[in-house]
Amino acid sequence: MTVFHDLLQVQEHDTAVDRLRHRRDHLPELAELRATEDELSRLEATLTDVEATALEASRTQRKLEGELSLLESKLTELDAKLYSGVVSAARELQAMQHEAATMRERRAALEDEVLEAMGEHETIDEQLAGLRARRDELDARGGALRAAVAEAQAEVDRELAVESAARAEAATAIPADVASLYEQLRAHLGGVAAAPLVNGRCGGCHLALPATEIDRMRKEPADALVRCEQCERILVRP
Ligand SMILES: [Zn+2]
Repeated sequence: MTVFHDLLQVQEHDTAVDRLRHRRDHLPELAELRATEDELSRLEATLTDVEATALEASRTQRKLEGELSLLESKLTELDAKLYSGVVSAARELQAMQHEAATMRERRAALEDEVLEAMGEHETIDEQLAGLRARRDELDARGGALRAAVAEAQAEVDRELAVESAARAEAATAIPADVASLYEQLRAHLGGVAAAPLVNGRCGGCHLALPATEIDRMRKEPADALVRCEQCERILVRP
């Protein structure tokens, strides 16, 4: 056993840690949670717009109802005056009758407008109810997903702690210069810096090494650092 065999152990733990971190960042529940949160934030924006529209529709309805009520009391007043016998001049009576007819026309039109406004208001309220129900669904879904994510991450974290401790133990005997080269290579070679030499093949790039190269490595002392000439990784001889 050489420090390079320790290094291979370190590599195995580092690979496991990388895989666990990747799993932690790419949990299916996490992707679903993000999608749910995206939909929720789009829905909140729509809801704000529709709530503003509902408020406007409600104002319009109240304004029209106010106008209608005012018109009705004016009309009642005018009718009372017309039939009270107080006004007897034909010309004046005719003018009043004409005014009352105009007011009745206006009243009919206003009644239609009020009905239309009520219909619009109702449609918007239904839309609001639908949006709020969907928001509640998404809120509940988000809560459940957050709990699932936390649980899955906690499990990964437990595995990470085990791997990290094992890695630290395996790394105790590795000299600083080897460790530093290892980290440098790991950063540039997709996380794999040390690989076993198996049946004349580099375990990192999987290419067969030339016979002369194998021969040269065999002659190197066991504690010498050898590297794959193709991928530059540290090769660990059996
Ligand atoms: Zn290689």
